[in-house]
Amino acid sequence: MSETQVPAIEGWFTDGPEPRLLGTKCTQCSTYFFPKESTYCRNPGCQSSEFEEVPLSRVGTIWSYAEHHYKPPAPYIADDPFVPYTIAAVELAEEKLVVLGQMAAGVKHADLKAGMQVELVVERIYDVDNVEHTIWKWKPIAV
Ligand SMILES: [Zn+2]
Repeated sequence: MSETQVPAIEGWFTDGPEPRLLGTKCTQCSTYFFPKESTYCRNPGCQSSEFEEVPLSRVGTIWSYAEHHYKPPAPYIADDPFVPYTIAAVELAEEKLVVLGQMAAGVKHADLKAGMQVELVVERIYDVDNVEHTIWKWKPIAV
C-alpha cells in the first residue's frame, strides 16, 4: 500500500536524498532570509527589493531546543493520541540564519545538546485523507 506524499508547505524545501530549505538572498547586501523575503530587504542599511531564491545549508548547529507536551490548537493537525515533539533552533552552517524545526522521528530530547551538529531531513508531519504531508526536520549527524 503506497500513500501519496506532499509537502505540508509548498515551495519551502526540496525533497530527495539531500533535501534543502529554500530561502532568498538579497542581491545587494547578500542577507539570507527564511522563510523567503520577496518585498523589501529587512537589513536597515539596505534599500533593495531584489531577491534571488537560494537553497540553504543542509547542516547546522543546535542553539537551543525544547520538548512540547501541549497539543497545539487548530489549524495544527496532531496525531491522536498526541505525541510530544521536540523543536530545535538551528544555526545554519553558512548563512548563520537560525531556523526552527522539529527533531526527526525517534530523536529523544535527552540525547540532545546545544552545539550538536544536525542535518536536514524531510519527514511525515501529518496525514489528511491518506495523504502523507511532509516537513523539514533536524536529525543529529552521527559522528
Ligand atoms: Zn539587502
